[in-house]
Amino acid sequence: MHQRNNKQVVIVGGGQAAAQAIQSLRELGFPERITLVSDEALAPYYRPLLSKQALQAGFEPSDLPLHPATWYKERDIELVLSQRVDAINKYEKTIELHSGEALSYEYLILATGGKPRLFSNPRSDLSRVHYLRTVDDAARLRALLQPNRKIVIIGGGYIGLEVASAAITSGATVTIVEQQQTLLSRVASSHVSRFVRFIHEQNGVIVKTGSTVEAIENTSQSVSRLRFGDGGEVLADDVVVGIGMVANDELAIDAGLGCGNGVLVDEAGRTTDPNIFAIGDCSRRSTHPFGANLRLESVQNAIEQARRVAAAITNTPRPNAECPWFWSDQYDFKLQIAGVWTGEPETVLRGSIESGSFSVFLLNDGYLSAAESINRPGDFAAAKRLIMSGKRIDTSMLTDETIPIRAIVKSTSSD
Ligand code: FAD
Repeated sequence: MHQRNNKQVVIVGGGQAAAQAIQSLRELGFPERITLVSDEALAPYYRPLLSKQALQAGFEPSDLPLHPATWYKERDIELVLSQRVDAINKYEKTIELHSGEALSYEYLILATGGKPRLFSNPRSDLSRVHYLRTVDDAARLRALLQPNRKIVIIGGGYIGLEVASAAITSGATVTIVEQQQTLLSRVASSHVSRFVRFIHEQNGVIVKTGSTVEAIENTSQSVSRLRFGDGGEVLADDVVVGIGMVANDELAIDAGLGCGNGVLVDEAGRTTDPNIFAIGDCSRRSTHPFGANLRLESVQNAIEQARRVAAAITNTPRPNAECPWFWSDQYDFKLQIAGVWTGEPETVLRGSIESGSFSVFLLNDGYLSAAESINRPGDFAAAKRLIMSGKRIDTSMLTDETIPIRAIVKSTSSD
């Protein structure tokens, strides 16, 4: 096996986290060689667009990359694309590429993201089943979203809902099938869940909650028949499955690093091997002030963790913890979520659901742990600050719209 002389930082994976690690390492003055190895053909691109603009007519693929080729050149980055990493040898500090080549590293950053959770049922024919994770998946899907085509989406989470919104806009007929009793059941309050259902139904989506798909059969008319546990069925030209993501942590598991639904890392992003870090969707960490060992799947998390790892490698001060956040675009509403939902001990509503502009605040014993805002960027920005302040909040102020949200932030921070 050929071994290239590369003693410096090697990043496995070419997504948001990898791109940010490069940016932060160079900004912090890291002078040595950086090599990025990705199994995708495209340099890091903006994955959230795949379920949004990339499914709409008129989208230009040139809008996807996070940076132009010159950006990597200027930073003296070696991009190794369309190349899978097959193994890590942590004792020799090398990685093995699928080509048979080995690369040595001083620091290895795992930024391998995740893959869609598969719909697996032995009684199913999966030839018309599609997933959405990569630019190729989005291109295939976009070609299918045609007027009057019957699209059935399994899974009422963010990806399923965003695909539904794009599909309806393209003129397709859409059914969402969700196993739980509500949409966004594990990640949103009942207010937002009900609002989202209302919006989709108003736009013509058929929503079937509490329905489990038992089998997908192909019929002679080149459509699929989805059979439900309750005996019902629905026909589909195409089926899109959005039932969650599984971390790409196999490399770490095989190398004997601590893993459990993702690669376990400390506050600096370090794995159980001091020379190996993990960032983004593939990793799991404690998140201040939420404490719990979480695997977050968001752009914000990928960026924050990459910055932390760059600080650890360059031995510079660790950036302050950030409030986790996420967003979702469906039709003409923007949902922005700050913090982490941990159930619904106390929810406080600001604004009116009927107007399509409101926020739901989730509190534990007077402390804000999350907020969801629909078309309310001001509330969202304030919520991030209120959460990270770690201070008790007077909930009557939150419900009182005569008190500007900025005033609540001010009064809380001056306590
Ligand atoms: P990824 O972007 O998944 O990158 C991982 C890379 O590693 C991939 O290129 C993969 O091919 C490569 N790789 C994996 N294994 C290997 C290997 N062995 N060898 C070489 N390469 C490897 N987040 C938001 O905050 N807001 C949104 O609205 C939003 N919308 C989304 C919509 C879609 C359709 C999807 C799929 C995700 C969305 N997300 C959103 C999530 C967000 O995109 C991810 O959290 C973010 O991209 C994570 O970045 P990452 O670098 O950790 O992983």
